[in-house]
Amino acid sequence: MANKTHQADRRRIEEEMTMVKSELQRLAVKLENKPEWSLGQGDPAVQEWELNFELKKEAEHRLKSLETALAKLASGSYAICETCGKTIDPERLAILPETTRCVECARKKL
Ligand SMILES: [Zn+2]
Repeated sequence: MANKTHQADRRRIEEEMTMVKSELQRLAVKLENKPEWSLGQGDPAVQEWELNFELKKEAEHRLKSLETALAKLASGSYAICETCGKTIDPERLAILPETTRCVECARKKL
């Protein structure tokens, strides 16, 4: 019974990974052209570069989380809250497929 659900979960995670990967490629191209820092802090080119750099770090982090989610799916521990051991709400997983905590634990930040 869980198999069907997990197929959908897997597909969703893989789709997310594809999106994050293309985002990373896009950012890598943008980050190749590093502006002159001597232009100063207020320079829009410098600010944009810094923003893209932050976005790249976030995307890399997300990709790792998605890879972890795939591994959990394979080992059968996917959709189980790491903190309290309850099943994570499918609606939450639909929005955040890489999450490792249920809504309550995430809110409590345990
Ligand atoms: Zn929990």
